[in-house]
Amino acid sequence: MAEKKAGPAKAAKAPAKGASALQQKLGKLGLHSRNDLLLHFPLRYEDETAVVPVNEAPWDEPVQVEVRVTDVSIQFRPRRQLVARCEDDSGELWLRFLNFYGSQVKQLETARDEGRKLRVFGEIRGGFFGSEMVHPRYKSVEEGSALPQSLTPVYPTTAGLAQSALRKLIGKALAESDLADTLDEAQLQALDLEPFAASARLLHAPPPGVDEFALQNHRHPAWRRIKFDELLAQQLSLRRAYLARREKGAPRLDAPGALARQLLAQLSFQLTGAQQRVWQEIARDLAEAHPMQRLLQGDVGSGKTIVAALAACQAIECGWQAAFMAPTEILAEQHYKKLSAWLEPLGITVAWLSGSLKSAKKKAAQQEAAAGAQLVVGTHALIQADVDFLRLGLAIVDEQHRFGVAQRLELRKKGKAGIPHQLMMSATPIPRTLAMSYYADLDVSVIDELPPGRTPIRTKLVSDARRDEVVGAVRHAVESGRQAYWVCPLIEESEKLDLQAAIDTHAILAEELEGLSVGLVHGRLKPDEKAATMAAFAAGEIQVLVATTVIEVGVDVPNASLMVIEHAERFGLAQLHQLRGRVGRGAHESACVLLYATPLSQTGRARLKIIYENTDGFEIARQDLQLRGPGEFVGARQSGVPLLRYADLEMDADLVELARDLAERLLRDDPPRAERHLRRWLGSREELLKA
Ligand code: ADP
Ligand code: MG
Repeated sequence: MAEKKAGPAKAAKAPAKGASALQQKLGKLGLHSRNDLLLHFPLRYEDETAVVPVNEAPWDEPVQVEVRVTDVSIQFRPRRQLVARCEDDSGELWLRFLNFYGSQVKQLETARDEGRKLRVFGEIRGGFFGSEMVHPRYKSVEEGSALPQSLTPVYPTTAGLAQSALRKLIGKALAESDLADTLDEAQLQALDLEPFAASARLLHAPPPGVDEFALQNHRHPAWRRIKFDELLAQQLSLRRAYLARREKGAPRLDAPGALARQLLAQLSFQLTGAQQRVWQEIARDLAEAHPMQRLLQGDVGSGKTIVAALAACQAIECGWQAAFMAPTEILAEQHYKKLSAWLEPLGITVAWLSGSLKSAKKKAAQQEAAAGAQLVVGTHALIQADVDFLRLGLAIVDEQHRFGVAQRLELRKKGKAGIPHQLMMSATPIPRTLAMSYYADLDVSVIDELPPGRTPIRTKLVSDARRDEVVGAVRHAVESGRQAYWVCPLIEESEKLDLQAAIDTHAILAEELEGLSVGLVHGRLKPDEKAATMAAFAAGEIQVLVATTVIEVGVDVPNASLMVIEHAERFGLAQLHQLRGRVGRGAHESACVLLYATPLSQTGRARLKIIYENTDGFEIARQDLQLRGPGEFVGARQSGVPLLRYADLEMDADLVELARDLAERLLRDDPPRAERHLRRWLGSREELLKA
């Protein structure tokens, strides 16, 4: 089950110059010290403690047999392969090797000539030649040589590093390392955990009679201890970063809130209860003398932008600047328009800075930022070297998961007059366990309520054989005064093909929807062309917008009530959810049509089913996490955070909570112990986390 985690997730450092070949291979596995070896636990176990007669061995299950070699040949049909005919007293067995070395042929021939026995481990199946094993593991043994007494560990390894060699190294590390417990007796008792030393020994060298099922399934108490330790290290490291940040100074943004109240008074809507709550949480943080680092989560359409605008007002009222960074031109520009419409009437100066501005305009925008423009909205252009802020007090990052750790740090560094407060927003809902685990160094606010009056979006799954009907539905929507998006397939391997698909689709649809105005927007358009197209769509001049995923995040055109996604099976769930969130923003009944190509793979079907059955982003994310594991969720962030190798956030949710509690207590009451634990688990990797 843990097989998918085979590639160790540790950030592999480049091996030091002059490292031996062995060291380099170990380095590839993230193993840089004896201690790393100690914590390199098996992926699974093989049972070599018994041999079974060939004819009694069940098929398609790992078994060990002991056979004599009777015949060795290289055959060419159906393809070139090494074939050894073997037998024991019960029957015959063919061994087949499609890739083999000359030395292997010799070895098998010697075994045949000298009558030596082979101990062979693998799965038997009924094959081309009869009962056969393909690419089994084998070794030649003396007559009557003893069988191992315990299960054999199988470790994650890399090309050129044999299991046997790795096993030996780890055995040595186990014998020579200090296995002292990082937790004391009382802590073990309270948490119902096994001692570390016993757990490590058991996992590397399981004793005879161990509960094999629990061991293979990572449910053995020894695994529980290791998983806990891993989670504890993660929590300690994130928590420590969090506390370190609280030591730093930031401007107190504690104005009475007159600007924010003015903004609220001129809105055409009232904040939802959830928006009010998160706004209070943010306002409280801003008033403190250390930098806020808060993640504002809220499903697509939950209304995060207005909350960010309120935060900006707070900074501005205190005489500081706010920066608002978004990941795409389209989105940043849309924010710029919306924020200026809200804030300029209050007398606030709003500047626009994007990479696509002509150089004179860009210079001017940079000068505005340097001269103290109260709010600066833009793309990555905000973090370029030639941008300076006079007094940056608040940095807002929209769709934060689209940015890397380094980019968010860059924005923070723009605060020449001190560290600015940071507000990060994300519509990719992060399941609770994941948030607790990977975002333990952030404070999290959640908007868990949509503004009232939204009609739910109907989702339909339609085979692309019925594409004509869907085109009819688009025409119908437009004739009823609505607008539609038509999202084109994503072709992973090639941005060019991707683009071509969008261009072709646009041409075809323009023909099929003759008489309607059909626009096209994709990532290769010049920013001003993109902006013009989006503006025309927002103004209703374009009725149907053919788009690639550039419209995935944040775009807000309330009159668009129909979204068609072609080849929906190729999209990630979070992406589909985001795309679907582009409609259902007005009062009109909205629909999202997921066109899929047949035949659908099993996972393809499972994924579309999740989107079809769920509208709650958190539930979708939870199920997605089950399908995919955490790696892709944390995205760019993972560069700074060790992925978990042993703990599983779904299965071990209880341990995540326990580890979090203990981490907090240790850092408060027993820092040396926390330090010892971190050294064992992060050792050479800790510096990576300081990013
Ligand atoms: P997201 O959280 O996805 O960024 P937005 O901030 O873009 O959502 O908000 C979506 C739409 O809902 C916008 O048009 C916004 O003005 C509107 N909106 C936000 N809050 C409310 C509210 N409390 N009542 C009604 N409409 C709201
Ligand atoms: Mg948004």
